[in-house]
Amino acid sequence: MMRYGSIINGQERNENNRETLAVHNPYNQDKVGELALATRTDLEEAVNNSFETFHSTMKFMPAHKRSDILRRTADLLTERAEEFAETIVQEAGKPIKYSRDEINRSIQVLRFASELAKNITGEVLPMDAAIGGESRMGFVKRIPLGVVGAITPFNFPLNLSLHKLAPAIAAGNTIVFKPAEKTPISAYKLVKLFQEAGLPDGVLNLLMGTGEEVGEPLVTHEKVHKITFTGSLPVGRKIRESAGFKKVTLELGSNSPNILFEDAHIESAVKELVKGAFAFSGQVCISAQRVYVHKSIYEPFLSEYIKQTSALKIGDPKEEDTEIGPMITEKEAKRAKQWIDDAVEKGAKIETGGERNGTVLAPTIMTNVDRNMKIIAEEVFAPIVSVIPFESEEEVIGYANDSIYGLQAGVFTRDIDRAMRVADQLEMGGVWINEISTYRQDNHPYGGVKQSGIGKEGIKYAIEDMTEMKFIGIKLTTNHERDASFG
Ligand code: NAD
Repeated sequence: MMRYGSIINGQERNENNRETLAVHNPYNQDKVGELALATRTDLEEAVNNSFETFHSTMKFMPAHKRSDILRRTADLLTERAEEFAETIVQEAGKPIKYSRDEINRSIQVLRFASELAKNITGEVLPMDAAIGGESRMGFVKRIPLGVVGAITPFNFPLNLSLHKLAPAIAAGNTIVFKPAEKTPISAYKLVKLFQEAGLPDGVLNLLMGTGEEVGEPLVTHEKVHKITFTGSLPVGRKIRESAGFKKVTLELGSNSPNILFEDAHIESAVKELVKGAFAFSGQVCISAQRVYVHKSIYEPFLSEYIKQTSALKIGDPKEEDTEIGPMITEKEAKRAKQWIDDAVEKGAKIETGGERNGTVLAPTIMTNVDRNMKIIAEEVFAPIVSVIPFESEEEVIGYANDSIYGLQAGVFTRDIDRAMRVADQLEMGGVWINEISTYRQDNHPYGGVKQSGIGKEGIKYAIEDMTEMKFIGIKLTTNHERDASFG
């Protein structure tokens, strides 16, 4: 049984007398590893070491070197793609085909970051725009922040970690990384990969532990300059309240709407929405949760949606053809089932699914729902989707915006005027036309409005958030006399 410890200044902290936490395969409950937990002393040492490494090493590392390390890490991950995919299957229960997708995206994220590390630019200011500025020159440089605290969730244990680590390194920061305690093995292997690719010790320190024990003191530590967090709304809110003067990026939840107008291409929308609602059992922050369908196509859409959903193969996530595996824990599966039962009590109808077996919840389509049900009002984060008819554009925009969240939406129509009108009115961080809300490309700005978060990821935008603008002005002493004549 492998024990995985924290890694601080290149050294693993894995002594026998440490407290441990088991990591289980969510499908069969096999123990797949064990964490040697970090202590408060480890946290203190990790942050201090990251702080020192920033000042001694990282802020002097040239862009071409940071870029090379990121590219080499991408190459190593490409070589070991299958091993990493199997790790995600084991610790997260993500079906193998989706785990492979995650690895491919992670490789791209590293490559984007490698390219962008060499393109962090500033600007030259028109100083003579201000009266008296004629003999001055001004520049804005982008400089790294220092120590970035990265806290990540279980659902994309590799790619969402890389959405923080890769831009942080590209920008020249050091990092203290606290991965989700349910899925720490891919995070551990990733840190090892960076070491192998030549990242100096102390640039990326890893802390194994829970949110309460390690996450909270990381958020409040005064030597940490920024917290970048992906996870749930309650934890995000707590972080926002306790982070003090730090910069904070929060990538939180959603109950994403998808809208099908009467001219939508039903066949392709159904196919995509099956994936969009049920990939990784709906445990995706932009999972399609509310599907609004124009009443003229409601019946044919619903019957085809039910047909394709009930044909999904449920089973062991390591099998090649498995579409639906387990949820992360039995507690979560029970919670989701409870939300279904609650909705049924209030008048909702289960069109397919609804059954739970241990950690596995069958893909479930609900109708007759309303905004007083948790499956509509809150983030369901489970394989449950609701289908709701509508009559007018105005009405459906109201439904879609009736949420505390606003991360991403999908709009299906062939009418470009309508598509643009609706996209403008949706209160979302992102809108896809003729694509599901669940689709994300790793280079577009990504992040929510309302209570879906603060700040943006997508490598270029994360680099902006992980750097500071520094102004440098020069006064040209030789031009003094000429200036005076301009008063
Ligand atoms: P979570 O909030 O329970 O945990 C996320 C991380 O926060 C974990 O590492 C956890 O240990 C840590 N944590 C817990 N309490 C903490 C505290 N008090 N202080 C500091 N850190 C703490 O989330 P999860 O269950 O792992 O992930 C699911 C959630 O993540 C969903 O709400 C989902 O929508 C969201 N998510 C959002 C995005 C996005 O990009 N917007 C992407 C994926 C997941």
